[in-house]
Amino acid sequence: MATKAALETQLAVVAGFENPKVSLEQYPTPPGLAAHIVHLADLRGDIEDRTVVDLGTGTGMLALGAALRSPAQVVGVELDAAALQTAADNAKRVGASAPIHWVRGDATRLPLCLSGDHSVTVLMNPPFGAQRGNEHADRAFLESVATIADVSYSVHNEGSKEFVEAFVADEGGALTDAFRATFDLERQFDFHDADRKELDAEVFRIEW
Ligand code: SAH
Repeated sequence: MATKAALETQLAVVAGFENPKVSLEQYPTPPGLAAHIVHLADLRGDIEDRTVVDLGTGTGMLALGAALRSPAQVVGVELDAAALQTAADNAKRVGASAPIHWVRGDATRLPLCLSGDHSVTVLMNPPFGAQRGNEHADRAFLESVATIADVSYSVHNEGSKEFVEAFVADEGGALTDAFRATFDLERQFDFHDADRKELDAEVFRIEW
């Protein structure tokens, strides 16, 4: 298995959102965090020969990270056509050999029919629901994950552990790993008052 550092380097060419849409909470996962999640998942046997689904794939960071290991196939689901086009371009830059399917659709009403040949791993950094009136937008994504995944890795905003743990318990699953991550976000939206911002996030591995 290649190193985490090598994966981060390969993912550094992944382009972000050209015109980020605030209503869709388009924040890209930095390559370092994506490499960390994918490498950990690979070490746990959750990538090789699996179907890996990235819900709200954006410009493809997590999907492409998985595609650089040895999955059976990768599926990236995204509502925004422009982001998906960038994801497809990114796939060429990254040069992964695994089959990748880009699907335009709503991750909360999954437009997927996955055949049962491979176990399914979901990787996702969904909208956090950080905008007022949209709290826990990640819940609807987790509901989708519960219907397709054997195991998942998801990024949430700080302070989500209690809610995620309760949700997973209700579904009969188990939260097996939790760790904190700090995003270094570049200024993307006009309402951001600093050029860079540190965002505290939490990452969870869940067995469904
Ligand atoms: N996963 C990407 C992008 C994170 S931002 C990365 O790690 O870099 C969240 C993404 O979810 C955005 O691309 C946004 O367009 C997408 N999104 C928001 N609501 C969605 C929905 N209902 N269905 C599919 N994608 C959605």
